[in-house]
Formats: sequence, structure tokens, C-alpha cells
Amino acid sequence: MTSEQTLDGTELDVVIVGAGVSGLYALYHLRGLGYRVRVYEQGGDVGGTWYWNRYPGCRCDVESLEYSFSFDEKLEQEWQWPERYGTQPEILRYVNHVADRHNLRKDIVFNCPITSATFNEDANQWVLSTGGGQRITSRFCIMATGNLSTPRVPEYEGLDAFQGKWYHTGQWPHDGVDFTGLRVGVIGTGSSGVQSIPIIARQASHLHVFQRTPQFSLPARNGPMDSEKEAAHKVNYRALREAAFDTPFGIAGYPPPTRSALEVPHDERQASYEEKWAEGGSISFLYTYKDLLLNKEANDTAADFVRDKIRQTVKDPKVAEKLIPYDHPIGTKRLILDSGYFETYNRDNVTLVDIREAPIERFTPQGLRTADGNDYEMDAVVFATGFDAMTGALRNIELDNGAGLTIQDKWSNGPRCFMGLAMAGFPNLFMITGPQSPSVKTQMILGGEQHTEWIAEFLEYMRLNGFTRFNVEQQAEDAWVLHNNDIADSTLYPLANSWYVGANVPGKPRVFMPYVGGFDHYKKACDELAQNGYPGLQLSSQGQTLDAAD
Ligand code: NAP
Repeated sequence: MTSEQTLDGTELDVVIVGAGVSGLYALYHLRGLGYRVRVYEQGGDVGGTWYWNRYPGCRCDVESLEYSFSFDEKLEQEWQWPERYGTQPEILRYVNHVADRHNLRKDIVFNCPITSATFNEDANQWVLSTGGGQRITSRFCIMATGNLSTPRVPEYEGLDAFQGKWYHTGQWPHDGVDFTGLRVGVIGTGSSGVQSIPIIARQASHLHVFQRTPQFSLPARNGPMDSEKEAAHKVNYRALREAAFDTPFGIAGYPPPTRSALEVPHDERQASYEEKWAEGGSISFLYTYKDLLLNKEANDTAADFVRDKIRQTVKDPKVAEKLIPYDHPIGTKRLILDSGYFETYNRDNVTLVDIREAPIERFTPQGLRTADGNDYEMDAVVFATGFDAMTGALRNIELDNGAGLTIQDKWSNGPRCFMGLAMAGFPNLFMITGPQSPSVKTQMILGGEQHTEWIAEFLEYMRLNGFTRFNVEQQAEDAWVLHNNDIADSTLYPLANSWYVGANVPGKPRVFMPYVGGFDHYKKACDELAQNGYPGLQLSSQGQTLDAAD
């Protein structure tokens, strides 16, 4: 590692925490502008979510041609995605290729968790510590720590004494797990559970699925890449990338719906849902009508359609009924895409256990016991129990502003951020796809690129104008938080006990975390902020200015 120092004594201009897709692009882009940048990554290699989530069946729910970097036009033409939706190994291969192609690894320190970050007011620098006891100083700090990067295993009595093996989907062994002939249990039926269950069922001698809350899931209709579709997409790649910025979720090609579900006759509406069901994909389905996420009655028409599909797919009507969600409007929890999920319950070796009826009481050496006194013997258990989403990764770092404010204090009643990019009281600190930005409600790679480019433009503005410190004004942050909440409250999203509101983590404050006003509106707000000279951000000069770009 280089110990070269910048003019003002800081080791770096920008330190980035996390080498997932956002951290990698931030490194590429800022290094290209002449900043001294280094990335610290707790994992052994690049990829973030795609490095850790290696469970069977893991794949992206955004189509491959969309879920990729837009900054390298040559690469987007060259790269051949083999399937409609990228598998985890394929996406990781792609991310590794990007890292090699742009020589990014030379500026990344792996296996190096950042444990603390403190702003030194006098020196006008962030001081970070690593798990290995290193100290890093930098003028600016970018947290690219991810939204779904802190896996959660519920606390169960007796788990320590369980004699089988257990795994979390978000920390999967790198050499894989062979469940052939084993009695397996999967706890959790979110995206990770729903993707892995059909594959584990094909290997296991018996699979018990422990379901607390049934979820809506649609067929992905994955398959080999359609070469004509690929060719047409590649011819138009630039225009499609541009167009993606003008959509609510950062994905082009879906004409905005114009009609309410309630103004369409029943048969016509069913035919439209049928068409979307056959096409596969969640955006297409939720975009059938303009009010599916705004009006409960409209939403019910789509939810009932999917409920009927579950009834038609699952042969045992009692099992089907247990798999049907009634407690939240469709789409208000992340809508899942599956490949043969509901069909899996027609297998003789699969049993659904309703742990809302009889919760898991404890683990035993042989398996687990539910509150109705049933014992389930298992050789392996998979926790598909999700993440401390959106705030967990930052709260795990001892992050403080050097003047008595910690992130734990700041976020004690839920996250508070200015546009998901920065926070009042934490100077010179950025987040990429932080809470109260569209983040998980958009195509994440595009969201990361947009944030990075906004940050870069802001840094350039500071550099050119001789500013060395920014701070978010409290009232600007308060206004954004209010705006974020108002928008969420105008939708059906808050009706679900989802990880969007932190409901999956006992004791976590219930606050709607992502911005759901649409990526298009959000990007416009970011652009206007820049055009208007960054109102809401206090700029000052402390110490030396950064070098001009080479
Ligand atoms: P998740 O959506 O939070 O699902 C966790 C599951 O575990 C839920 O069924 C939850 O039940 C259950 N659970 C949690 N704590 C439990 C407890 N103490 N006892 C019993 N059950 C418990 O997590 P995930 O499936 O890992 O997915 C998280 C997000 O990652 C997704 O929503 C998606 O955004 C992303 N993801 C995307 C993909 C993809 O691109 N296809 C794949 C995987 C993940 P409750 O619902 O009752 O809380």
C-alpha cells in the first residue's frame, strides 16, 4: 500500500468503503478525475452482494441487459449475457472482468473491514481504522457499503448445540453446499428463500420450509438470452440507458401506464394481467395500471389475480391457502421473481410449516421444535432470514463526527439523510444509494452511477472554487426527510411489514427508508441542486485546497 501523502497531509483525497458495484464505479470515475482514491473492502474480492450471496438459485431480478454498467460502451457491446436474468456466478464474473479491465484492484485493499470512522475537525479529514489496526486519513469519505449487506440470523435458543450445519444465504460458503440426500430446513420465504427452495428441494431427501409470512411471487420466465432481443438492445444501448434515467425505476422499455385498474372491465383487466404473467418480470406486472401501488382497491385486482394463480399451481388446497399472502398489498414488499417456486410444494419431499401458527420455539441438537410441540429433525438449516437492510452496514461502523455525534445517535429514530447522499453533522461524508434515495427501488448499478457522478461533479465544484469542506444544513435534511415520508405515505408501501420499514429487525425504528418518488424525479432534484449551486450544502475552506486535476 502506498503511503504517499497529499499536500494537506491526508493520505487520500477520497476513501471509499466497499468494493461492490457502486464502490468500483466510484473508484474508476474519481481516479479518472485525478483524485487519490483507495477502496477498503471487508470481503476477499470485488462484487459486494454478488460476492457474498452464493446460495443455490441466486440470480438478479433485473434483466441482464439492464443490470450492467453503462459507463463502458465497448464492454456493453462485447459482453454476452447467456440468460435473460443473470445468475450470481455470471454477474460476479462480469464484475471481476470490469475490475480487471480497468485495473481497479491495484487501489483496493481486500479483507479489510473498516471498524471506525471519525471526522477530525482541525485537520479537516476523516480518520478510519481497519480491523487490522491500520489508520487511514482522507479528505472525503464515501460509504458504498450496500443496502443488503448485513445478514441477520434470528436469535434462537439452542442453535449453538444444533449438531447439523447451518448457513445464511447472504454468507454462503464459496465452495458451495451439496444437500444431496440430506434433511434440510429453510427458514424464510423472501427472495432468497424463494429462489433457493426449488433447487434445494431437488437435492434434499426432505425439505421443510418454515414460513412466517407468505409472499407474492411472479414467474421470472428466465431462459437463454434471445439473440434478436439482445441485438436490438445493443443497437439502441445509448438511447435505452438515457431513457432509463427518465423512468421511476431506472429501467427503460416499459411504457408508463395511463389507466386506472378500476376503469377497466374485469375481463380486459384479467387478460392484461395474464399477458404480463406470461411475459415474466415484476416491473411489467406492476406497471399494468397506474394506481396499483397507490389505491388498495386497484391493488386488490392484481393481488387476487396472483392469489388465483397460486391456487391453480399448488395441488393441495390447504397448502395453497397457507402460501397465499393476505397481509400486504402486492408490490409493497419487494415483489419476488421465481422459477418454479409454488410448483415445488407439489413435490412429495417438501413440507410447508406455518410458523405463524406455531412459531419456532428453539433449536435442538437434532433440529428444531415449534410451539405446538412438533420436532423437526434436520441435517442442515438454511437461514433465508434477510438483512438489517439499508442502515445495518453503516451502524456497524463506529461512525462519529468527532464532535460528539455518532451515527447511532443520529439514526436512533431511523435514518435521516439529505437525498440519501449525505447527512447533517457529518462533513465531507457521502453515501452511495443511502437511505432516502431511490436505492433499492431502482436498478442499483444505474443508481450507483448516478450518485457517483453527482458526487464527482460536486467535488469538482468544490475543487474549482477552493472549498474543502461541506456540511448539510439541518433544515435541508429535515425537508428531504419530510418529503421522503410524505411520498411514501401517499402510496400503499407503508401498509406492509417489510424490510423497507425495518419491520424485520426486532426493535428497529419503523421508518420508510427508500425514496419512492421515482428515480426520474430524484435525478431531476439532484441535477437542480447542482445547477443552483448546491443550496442546502454549506461550503467552506479549511486548510489547503485539493490539487487541480492532472
Ligand atoms: P427478506 O426479503 O427480508 O426475507 C426474509 C424472510 O425471512 C422473510 O420470509 C421473513 O419473514 C423471514 N424471517 C425473518 N426473520 C424471521 C424469524 N425470526 N423467524 C422466521 N422467519 C423470519 O430477505 P431476502 O429473501 O434475503 O431478500 C432481501 C432482499 O434482497 C430482497 O427483497 C431483494 O431486494 C434482495 N434480493 C434480491 C434478489 C434478486 O435479485 N432476485 C434475490 C435475493 C435477495 P417475514 O416476512 O415474516 O419477516
